[in-house]
Amino acid sequence: HDDEAVRKMKYSNLGNTGMQVSVLGFGASPFSGGYHPVSEEDAISSVRKALTNGINYIDTAPWYGDGKSEEMLGKALKDIPRESYYMATKVGRYKPEVDKMFDFSAAKVLSGFEESLQKLGLSYVDLIQVHDLEFAPNPEIILNETLPAVQTLVDAGKAKYIGITGYPVDELKNIYERSTVKIDTILSYSRLTLSDSSLLGHVDFMKKNGVGLINASPLSMGLLTHYGPPKWHPASEEVREAAAKASLYCQKEGVDLPKIALNFTLSQKDIPITLMGMSSVSEVDRNLAALEQDLTEKEREVKEFILTNYFDPVKEKSWEGREVAK
Ligand code: NAD
Repeated sequence: HDDEAVRKMKYSNLGNTGMQVSVLGFGASPFSGGYHPVSEEDAISSVRKALTNGINYIDTAPWYGDGKSEEMLGKALKDIPRESYYMATKVGRYKPEVDKMFDFSAAKVLSGFEESLQKLGLSYVDLIQVHDLEFAPNPEIILNETLPAVQTLVDAGKAKYIGITGYPVDELKNIYERSTVKIDTILSYSRLTLSDSSLLGHVDFMKKNGVGLINASPLSMGLLTHYGPPKWHPASEEVREAAAKASLYCQKEGVDLPKIALNFTLSQKDIPITLMGMSSVSEVDRNLAALEQDLTEKEREVKEFILTNYFDPVKEKSWEGREVAK
């Protein structure tokens, strides 16, 4: 641990789980190579840098690079004390081939999770989440098969808490309310960013129910960066255009768009944790710095300008309903 850095990190309760999580969590989906190629060396050093600096939460999934993300994490963590971090992985979403992408059956939950543990080199995870449940053929399979199978893993001591993830928050809330299995956390993504802050409308529900709200993708999966979103990104043309204009404006003004975007997300109240995808030591450094530093006067002006001129007009036009599973 870098004691000085750890002192600067803030921690909060993740719902009623008892987990005290760093407000910035490490998203390991970029290890899939889905944004840009990531070397094993960069993956390992970025995780270690994050943990040394007080980030204590890591999110992954078998879907991220068909096991690659979990495998790289296993290598990064092998000599790190298990109690010094929380690990969250997922079940239900797997391989790039369309016909093998989703499998919410109990059998796959059990076998897929064993593979996850093996790749991670762990005997348990802190959180096991049903991944992108809006893609299930129907909610009943999640309620009657997936979640009960996940519960057996908790009963066996292989996971501590149960979560659900996806893009349409109403569908997540609906499953939460109907489930007989206790759900501890709800994760959604790209919904508390410069271009879409609809997650704020769900914060009261989470607080009232003691659900741990996990907010992912403050850069809206690469949309709010200077290199722009990947091809598979589901944002509408209008939102892509607004982000491209904002990025150009920031470059012209000599201001870092990701820093403004991260500051926007992290300055919202009642969000226990924001997961950000990181794949190099320099990204970890920049994001930790953004967490500690306020925006300069100039950055504040630029933020207001891009919100008013580019993002506010397209607020309602982020993508709706479902991410397109490509
Ligand atoms: P993100 O918005 O965090 O953006 C990640 C991209 O931004 C990557 O290309 C990363 O290399 C880059 N980046 C990071 N810091 C940067 C900086 N300072 N400057 C410029 N670029 C920077 O999107 P994400 O990674 O998709 O989301 C965060 C995490 O949340 C994921 O890694 C994953 O763990 C989780 N997540 C889960 C779900 C789900 O369960 N359905 C969905 C989305 C995200």
